[in-house]
Amino acid sequence: MSIEYQPQFNLLIESIIGAEALVRWRHPELGIISPSDFIPIAEESGLIIDIGQYVMRQACHQAKRWHDQGHCLHIAVNVSYVQFMGNNLLQLVTDVLDETGLEAQFLELELTESILVSDPENVLSVVQLLRNMGVFLSIDDFGTGYSSLSYLKRFSVHKLKIDQSFVRDLLVDKDDAIIVSAIINLAKSLEIECIAEGVETEAQANKLQEMGCQQIQGYWLGRPLSVVQMNALLANTKVMEQIE
Ligand code: C2E
Ligand code: MG
Ligand code: MG
Repeated sequence: MSIEYQPQFNLLIESIIGAEALVRWRHPELGIISPSDFIPIAEESGLIIDIGQYVMRQACHQAKRWHDQGHCLHIAVNVSYVQFMGNNLLQLVTDVLDETGLEAQFLELELTESILVSDPENVLSVVQLLRNMGVFLSIDDFGTGYSSLSYLKRFSVHKLKIDQSFVRDLLVDKDDAIIVSAIINLAKSLEIECIAEGVETEAQANKLQEMGCQQIQGYWLGRPLSVVQMNALLANTKVMEQIE
């Protein structure tokens, strides 16, 4: 297993503001296997607990290294519903922040809508404890699941990630443009952040900015990168230097 990091960019301040940690599995015979293929199997077998621990630990260590080099990035880590249902997520986050010295506000946990609707009471208490620790919470692939407005209010997450399926045809499909605009305005009304995923062209980025979405992630800005590639990018690009 290894991890790649995909940069996240703020168009307004023209800076890299963070990176999403994406797990990679290079099979000796089959080559690179997509996480979309192996994560569901790992969730079924319970192996996702070990994978999740590995990713969280490595990603926070890496973020701390970047901070020590003067790059004030936040690190986004995907959390599976299996990790959320288990009892050790809070302990893991506490231990990893402790070990690495990364400040909690720079760790962003990406939850899916299905986590929030699965067992609301149980999940609510974990989310509240994470929030109290100062961890940043976002909803991944927003708009593809239940998009329940009541949980957005109850869980008071910090950020919505507009799913790439809406961004892909943003410029050609009127319905997708309406959905993207609705999500941006929803985030604005709730006074939370929003970021668009899967931004592949400058035209999409311009359109998103015009619609009021300043944060983007996607191939246009950068594919998921190795640490070495990411270091090269950080050396040549404006990066957040201090907390906003
Ligand atoms: P995700 O969290 O929504 O991550 C975004 C996915 O979109 C990544 O795919 C990324 O490589 C891809 N992507 C980014 N920009 C673009 C773009 O401009 N165009 C297109 N077409 N794709 C883009 P990846 O790395 O294959 O990961 C797929 C999914 O696997 C992730 O979706 C996430 O749900 C899951 N995943 C990845 N790493 C982890 C992990 O460490 N833990 C857990 N639980 N899930 C993970
Ligand atoms: Mg994600
Ligand atoms: Mg996503």
